[in-house]
Amino acid sequence: MQRRQFLRGSAALLSAAPLGAAVAADIPAVSGSSAATLLSDSRELTPMVASPDRIIEMNVCTRPFRAQGPRIEVERIGRKQVVHNYGHGGSGWSLSWGSGLLATQMAQGTGRQQIAIVGCGAIGLTTALVAQQAGLSVTIYAKDRPPYVRSQFATGSWTPDSRICSTEFAPAFAERWEAMARYSFRRFQSLLGVAGDPIEWRDMYSLSDNPPGTPAPHGESSEPEYPDFEDTLISDLTPQAVDLSELNHPFPAPYVRRRPALLFNIAGYSRVLMEEFLAAGGRIETFILSDRNDFAAIEERTIINCTGYGARALLNDDTIIPVRGQTCKLIPQPEVHYGFNYGSRKVSVYPRRDGLLVQAQAEGDFNNDKENLDPSESISAVERLAEIVHEMKIKT
Ligand SMILES: Cc1cc2nc3c(=O)[nH]c(=O)nc-3n(C[C@H](O)[C@H](O)[C@H](O)COP(=O)(O)OP(=O)(O)OC[C@H]3O[C@@H](n4cnc5c(N)ncnc54)[C@H](O)[C@@H]3O)c2cc1C
Repeated sequence: MQRRQFLRGSAALLSAAPLGAAVAADIPAVSGSSAATLLSDSRELTPMVASPDRIIEMNVCTRPFRAQGPRIEVERIGRKQVVHNYGHGGSGWSLSWGSGLLATQMAQGTGRQQIAIVGCGAIGLTTALVAQQAGLSVTIYAKDRPPYVRSQFATGSWTPDSRICSTEFAPAFAERWEAMARYSFRRFQSLLGVAGDPIEWRDMYSLSDNPPGTPAPHGESSEPEYPDFEDTLISDLTPQAVDLSELNHPFPAPYVRRRPALLFNIAGYSRVLMEEFLAAGGRIETFILSDRNDFAAIEERTIINCTGYGARALLNDDTIIPVRGQTCKLIPQPEVHYGFNYGSRKVSVYPRRDGLLVQAQAEGDFNNDKENLDPSESISAVERLAEIVHEMKIKT
């Protein structure tokens, strides 16, 4: 469709961006068959220990979804130039670096060297680091900082087009999205092998009752349709999925695909980001803005607003739609190096360093701003996970 058009546009955008130029290098795609030979025998997977009494943490939070895509633009508020950088839906961690780059370039356009960033979540912290690397002096002002920000409760995987905009707005947003995704992906690769493994590649398995190619069920009926940017615009970036025969996997599902996935170990990763920011001379101040007039109380004249879901109340911005999500963590199993999702059984599990992260796919999450935990939701997800683990035929 408009793929070629999108690619041409994004190339132009990147060549105009000094920091973005670094992403132009091509990464060869790994074909299905050669990818299969690179990966280990899936039947030798270490069993997960899944039972509700292993739950060590439950969390709930809201994704800040905007049908138009994130708001990244300059607005003059009183005497301040405010660069908005919020509304990243289910893709905030994934797109954070590229989004930070765009916002930083807009902030540089104001000509000031000292800038403020409001917000210390995934977007605020990465934007702060990009701005520092561009030579700006940065102070973060925020109500909360890690580990008490909403970003801390994300699943933690490379999902750059998860609830990032609706198909209606996709053509207008695609070029910007592609530039952000490519730059971010490149930055994540530079964090591989760093002490503590904040970023890792792990095998993820997709379990299905339907043959490959069957359209995935559309989310909830109240949800808009979402574009498949990842497959149409950046399929060259990531290793491709491999279909496995039943002899090559231990899962109790008729159709199984394996694909390496980029995982963010959020506890350790946030620490790395905070430490880098402080080591580069950054300052963090606890500060709460009640409404848009409070930007005036910030000393710096150029401010990047990275308040995430908080922007809805701060700016009365009802283009931000809450999408609730609940996860829980099981006691970490560092020996488990794979995860899986099984759509029809409504459960996913990710082998994070800070715990096996279990996500239930619950109904009624779209446009749901309830941030109260429903323990039964996580307990039943872990019980479904335990059933799958029990049915796995692991080679001994
Ligand atoms: C269940 C779930 C799973 C997810 N999984 C993934 C995933 O796997 N991959 C992915 O890429 N994304 C994922 N996301 C999405 C991602 O978590 C968000 O897009 C991202 O966290 C948004 O980050 P943020 O920095 O904009 O917001 P936040 O983390 O909410 O940070 C906002 C900051 O602004 C501050 N702030 C807010 N309002 C004010 C105010 N009035 N005054 C002062 N400070 C204020 C806060 O204190 C905080 O410091 C997931 C989200 C959910 C809910």
